[in-house]
Amino acid sequence: MTLKLVLFDIDGTLLNSGGVSRESKALATEDLYGTAGNLRTVHIGGKTDLGLLTDTLGAHGYQPEQLKQAMGTFEAQYAKRMSEIIDDYTVQSLPGAHEIVAKLRQREDVLLGIVTGNASLTTPIKLRAGGFDPDWFPVVAYGSESANRNDLPKLALKRAQALTGLTITPEHVWIIGDTVLDVEAARAVGGNVVIVLTGFEDHEELLAAGPDIVLNDLTEFEERVTI
Ligand SMILES: [Mg+2]
Repeated sequence: MTLKLVLFDIDGTLLNSGGVSRESKALATEDLYGTAGNLRTVHIGGKTDLGLLTDTLGAHGYQPEQLKQAMGTFEAQYAKRMSEIIDDYTVQSLPGAHEIVAKLRQREDVLLGIVTGNASLTTPIKLRAGGFDPDWFPVVAYGSESANRNDLPKLALKRAQALTGLTITPEHVWIIGDTVLDVEAARAVGGNVVIVLTGFEDHEELLAAGPDIVLNDLTEFEERVTI
């Protein structure tokens, strides 16, 4: 049996969280750093939470290393703020997402994972709000672990191999996402990339990034993608 690693992005791919992350992140940043900078308006586009923080607070004199070291404190505040306000937002799973996750979970030759820009403490809150059990995804690489999304699939692959004791070659790694940064991150690990047009990215830019397969939404996955 050849094991395949299938790594889903969250926002714009599995679910739409209606802006709850943006607002909770802005609130937590104000709590801890006294400003939200441009977090309420900046184009997120698949950037990691650490990357967003580095960009935003970099403009206010904070150094990347300092922000990375303080990420634990930030994450805790961010999760607290998200828990406080999440009921005011509609977190909606995207078409076909639950169905394809359920299908892939039944396969013995597929290991499911999450590669997300979301921080580690807010990822389970958002997944649960969208009706996804975090335990369905045994491998995760979080957006609090690097400012550079390209690092995350590599981390996930390492974790998958440690978890299973099997070697998974890059041709058997699949990234499912909705942004140009997802395409780039998949290429950084040498994997395949399926793009869904359910996020907020410009469609022409997405096509120009050269994904292997483009789907209107995840209802087309089973028919169009052979893993
Ligand atoms: Mg996304």
